[in-house]
Amino acid sequence: MTSPLPPNALMPITPRPDLVFVRGEGAWLFDAEGRSYLDWVQGWAVNALGHSPRALVAALTEQAAQLINPSPSFYNQPALALAGWLTQHSRFDQVFFTSSGAEANEGAIKLARKWGQLHKHGAHEIITFQDSFHGRTLATMAATGKAGWDTLFAPAVPGFVKARYNDANSVRALIGPQTAAVILEPIQGEAGVIPATPAFLQTLRTLCDEHGLLLIADEVQTGCGRTGVLFAHELHGMQPDIMTLGKDIGGGVPLAALLARADVCCFAPGDQGGTYCGNPLMCAAGLAVMRTLGEPAFLAQVRQTSELFRQSLQTISARFGLGEVRGEGLLLALALERNIGAQLVQGAREHGLLLNSPRPALLRFMPALNTTPEEIALGMERLGDVLAECLA
Ligand SMILES: *Cc1c(COP(=O)(O)O)cnc(C)c1O
Repeated sequence: MTSPLPPNALMPITPRPDLVFVRGEGAWLFDAEGRSYLDWVQGWAVNALGHSPRALVAALTEQAAQLINPSPSFYNQPALALAGWLTQHSRFDQVFFTSSGAEANEGAIKLARKWGQLHKHGAHEIITFQDSFHGRTLATMAATGKAGWDTLFAPAVPGFVKARYNDANSVRALIGPQTAAVILEPIQGEAGVIPATPAFLQTLRTLCDEHGLLLIADEVQTGCGRTGVLFAHELHGMQPDIMTLGKDIGGGVPLAALLARADVCCFAPGDQGGTYCGNPLMCAAGLAVMRTLGEPAFLAQVRQTSELFRQSLQTISARFGLGEVRGEGLLLALALERNIGAQLVQGAREHGLLLNSPRPALLRFMPALNTTPEEIALGMERLGDVLAECLA
């Protein structure tokens, strides 16, 4: 089977299998020993177009030869073009680019606090949700609703209070004179692919209007085509004032974005920045990805693929007596009803299938948005084999 790697100098931030990946192509990853894996993790919903897609490789290669980084204090063409594309295709007016989703959320938090200083007598508190995930910087960890994260690396950044997802009364109860904003994922990803209900999203908007609060959509995982529409808030008519993007926007390279409506864009020069913010190399990658997603047939195809994926999972669920299939687009989850997630992830890897289990009794599926029916059929066959072994 796998040979253990010699000791190495990487900090062990997560238990890693003894594998080294050397090549990727579309839905497939290849390890150093030449084995292939059908990849339904895709960098955690990052590789919108699969591994090393031609459009992305071409954009990076051409841009790298032209201009890599003139610094954020000068304009560059890819940043202007990508910001233009994003504002033309969304309800937002201005964009700030970052390298990671956490940084984009950190920027959203800063923007909300600045807005509170200017327009709400210094209100700075942000309502977030239990089980939410917003990133791993100190402020985004404080915003995150993961159990134990309030004391890990204490003291936590103050100014965040937690409501219950899909419970408007729990939000209402937390609103006070210090409240500036509410931030939520339209579908909670790390929590196990839990969608917000349309009624909850509508009530949230009403509450924000009544109390003069900003509504922030963290679409780092749900945005950029992942749910079968460009941005998941469009699904239920949620109308955020601020949105953050990450993951799929770069198709695998470090790119993320903070977008806001014009009346909320209150950063003054010097308030926000960063060495790599809006560098042309990453923005050229983002532009290649977003233009592909924007082609007329692309998202319709994602929705069709989603239906096939969902039905296939339902078949598997019925065959093995498992639980519900939920999610939108190609952010789907299968409830296992028993804590076999980790065992399945390992077993599937041995069968040449990469899976993700964000909760002990759940599998989450994040294939490339352009995955084919043949790849789905093959993956389901392997998943069936692993389940048969595991439940035997
Ligand atoms: C992944 C994720 C983040 C953090 O993004 P990074 O690029 O890892 O910093 C933030 N919010 C949500 C909803 C995410 O899924």
